[in-house]
Amino acid sequence: MKFGGTSVADAERIKRAARRIVAQRVAGKRVVAVLSARGKTTDQLIAMAEEVSPQPDPREMDMLLSTGERISCALCAMAINDLGYRAISLTGSQAGIVTDTSHTKAKIVDVRADRIRDALTDDRIVLVAGFQGVSTSRDVTTLGRGGSDTTAVAVAAALRAEVCEIYTDVAGVFTADPRLVADARKLPFVSFEEMLEMAASGAKVLQLRSVEYARTQGVRIHCRSSFEDGPGTVVLGEDETMEHPLITAVTHSTEEARITLLGVPDRPGAAAAIFRALAEANCNVDTIIQNEPRGADRDAEVSFTIASEDLRAAEDALAPVQAELGIAQIDTDSEIGKVSIIGAGMRSHPGVAARVFETLADEDINIEMISTSPIKISCVIRSDAVPGAVRALHSAFELGASEVQRERPIGQQTR
Ligand code: ADP
Ligand code: ASP
Ligand code: MG
Repeated sequence: MKFGGTSVADAERIKRAARRIVAQRVAGKRVVAVLSARGKTTDQLIAMAEEVSPQPDPREMDMLLSTGERISCALCAMAINDLGYRAISLTGSQAGIVTDTSHTKAKIVDVRADRIRDALTDDRIVLVAGFQGVSTSRDVTTLGRGGSDTTAVAVAAALRAEVCEIYTDVAGVFTADPRLVADARKLPFVSFEEMLEMAASGAKVLQLRSVEYARTQGVRIHCRSSFEDGPGTVVLGEDETMEHPLITAVTHSTEEARITLLGVPDRPGAAAAIFRALAEANCNVDTIIQNEPRGADRDAEVSFTIASEDLRAAEDALAPVQAELGIAQIDTDSEIGKVSIIGAGMRSHPGVAARVFETLADEDINIEMISTSPIKISCVIRSDAVPGAVRALHSAFELGASEVQRERPIGQQTR
């Protein structure tokens, strides 16, 4: 059972999570609960760091950020003990979460769950601090924003748990962010394939890495509300039969930035040098566009998007490459946003891209970059146009709760 930040934000909610955990114990289950930092704690810790240092040392950042989740676990263990059950809280390190050494976005490489197993055998309810581990060089690491989901899946995999329940502040996975689209519909099921695309394109409800991990390790994810009882959303494996609707969801992100390199010399190896430098700085690059060089100088223009939080690191990484290759200019733009539509059914149906572009055109929204996968179309637009774009696409593809009974004009959508 994993509880997100909002679900443990205050004393009453910690007690509520404790009661939910105990209810499973009473029902005869052995329970490991992974908790996130309370409410806005992680944001506050980041702000604290920035108050004392403009570019905080990543190792020390992890020492700081990992405290948030420890607080939640210790408090919840106290609440469970008061309900008459025996609980023990563990840091990521104590729980045996071993990661690589990339501070602030470490990847789990192993889960040595002996201590969790021993505690379960000793009839304890085990609380594991999410979002953190210990690196192969014995430093505390964190797993990137939203990383408690990945802790939960990794622990579930190591223990061969029956299910990994992700308790959050919405009723499950929706056809769009329910905070943005009033009539977004909760999905009873979503395939791993679609969930991966959704998580990668901004649906924060599950961290991308947790979905990847669950898919490779065969962990069943059940995403549900911590505030009400409801069926939630189950992430289904590819082997489990289900229909493939044309479009499943609209996702968005405003936490990305664009970097444009002007006057890149048109010769073999230029792009390789640029993206090697970014890779070494651990910056994940998304949409990339390189134009066809024209004219006498034959210089190319390369443009790509990255997570806003990586912008600083990317600029630092590119400075030496600029000098080495003689790149004329590097521009950055933090005001971009991205809207995507995801659906396994689009693979076999023409006309989806046309409809996306028409819908955005009708809203007078200019598309600045486009990228696609077989089951996704993403458009980079101005960040302030994102809410309107999401709502327009959600209604153009008739994803809303009020649309379920209506006949689908394209495809064979039957939900
Ligand atoms: P937690 O703190 O429980 O980990 P998060 O804030 O990380 O919760 O993720 C849940 C949030 O994800 C929701 O409050 C919702 O606003 C947002 N979200 C974005 N897209 C979706 C979607 N398609 N379905 C459900 N939630 C979404
Ligand atoms: N507390 C961390 C964050 O805010 C991890 C998480 O919530 O999953 O990103
Ligand atoms: Mg989260």
